Amino acid sequence: MSTPDIDVIVVGAGPVGLTAAIVLADLGHRVRIVDNQAAGANTSRAAVVHSRTLELLEPYGVVPALTARGLPIPRFTIRDRDRTLISVPFDGLPTAYPYTLMISQADTEKILLERATELGIVVARPATVAAIVQGNNSVTATLSGGERISARYLIGADGMHSTVREQAGIGFTGGSYAESFGLADIRLTGGIPRDEVILYFSPAGLVVVAPLPDDMYRVVAVAQDAPHDPDTGFVQRLLDDRGPRAVPGVVTEVVWGSRFRVHHRLADSFRRGRILLAGDAAHVHSPAGGQGMNLGIEDAVTTGRTLSRVLRGETAALLDEHAAVRRGTARSVMSTAGRLTDAATIPAAARPLRNTGLRIAGAAPVVRRRLAYRLSGLDRR
Ligand SMILES: Cc1cc2nc3c(=O)[nH]c(=O)nc-3n(C[C@H](O)[C@H](O)[C@H](O)COP(=O)(O)OP(=O)(O)OC[C@H]3O[C@@H](n4cnc5c(N)ncnc54)[C@H](O)[C@@H]3O)c2cc1C
Repeated sequence: MSTPDIDVIVVGAGPVGLTAAIVLADLGHRVRIVDNQAAGANTSRAAVVHSRTLELLEPYGVVPALTARGLPIPRFTIRDRDRTLISVPFDGLPTAYPYTLMISQADTEKILLERATELGIVVARPATVAAIVQGNNSVTATLSGGERISARYLIGADGMHSTVREQAGIGFTGGSYAESFGLADIRLTGGIPRDEVILYFSPAGLVVVAPLPDDMYRVVAVAQDAPHDPDTGFVQRLLDDRGPRAVPGVVTEVVWGSRFRVHHRLADSFRRGRILLAGDAAHVHSPAGGQGMNLGIEDAVTTGRTLSRVLRGETAALLDEHAAVRRGTARSVMSTAGRLTDAATIPAAARPLRNTGLRIAGAAPVVRRRLAYRLSGLDRR
């Protein structure tokens, strides 16, 4: 069989697929992206880009646009109404990006797509990968319209319901949390600071309030009764019951909102032959700590770099090593997000004890610093 013209097919033009394609094209490889949507998603979803992600993206020319558009936030805090239990500082971290960058996923994707276009990468859309067959020298994706595309390798960055993962016969082991979550991007006035991502671990339950660009805030809450389209009354009640009491926040507008369930699943393997998985196709977990897209972008950069070495003639065993390391990293990040979610959703009777424990732990600088390293991703350097 002849060697295909394309080096790598990337399935999925989300943040992970776009990043993988940019890395490979930057290293001189021929890449094609296919995505089943007619246009990129414009929902905000991931809102946090951590320091390590910015460090990894630095060589690819997108960081100036991301930092110009995003809002740098120097700390995460966990509070019980007005009382701070733990403050996690990013501003002392040894990095060129000593903050967490708040930016909507739609903007992150737009900036990545612009860079991909500059590099000459074509995104074929709408184009749905329906089947994948591997040969000795190539892998062939068949689109739902019947067109076939062959390449030397294929990266499945096609999200949680990955067709690539299914076609590769790779299991996705895990489950779902019982709780429902409500999410809203809002405008408000009142006493909520714009220089902190705040997790209110209050007696009535969890609400996260995080500043976004354009004078907005992201609100996420555990809420059994969360509506599909939350209105100002719903979000106001959440803030009144769980947010600050001394100077309450007053919701003036709900710009966008949604309801979602949280899953925790890990692919049984991140590689099968010429197929590699990255991002949500390989792992999904709670958004606590804002890790999902960050971990996916890390997968994309490291997979692109490793695959480039193999495409240039190094042993394909590098890919197994890489897949095992990435899976271990994902498991560890999932465990941190899971612990944070368990703490956030603990039954009401245990919340006072949890908060006392957090306050005591939060008084220790070493705990705060360790959390900052973990959440920023710098512990994975
Ligand atoms: C409510 C919510 C809040 C979140 N908040 C955060 C946060 O604060 N921080 C964070 O880091 N993460 C967060 N996440 C997670 C983050 O959104 C995901 O981790 C991220 O989108 C994963 O990117 P991806 O590129 O792997 O997959 P996706 O963004 O899902 O992209 C996959 C792409 O593949 C395409 N596709 C699917 N199937 C096919 C097919 N068969 N053929 C062709 N194309 C296909 C899809 O159309 C899509 O464009 C949040 C998620 C949710 C739901």
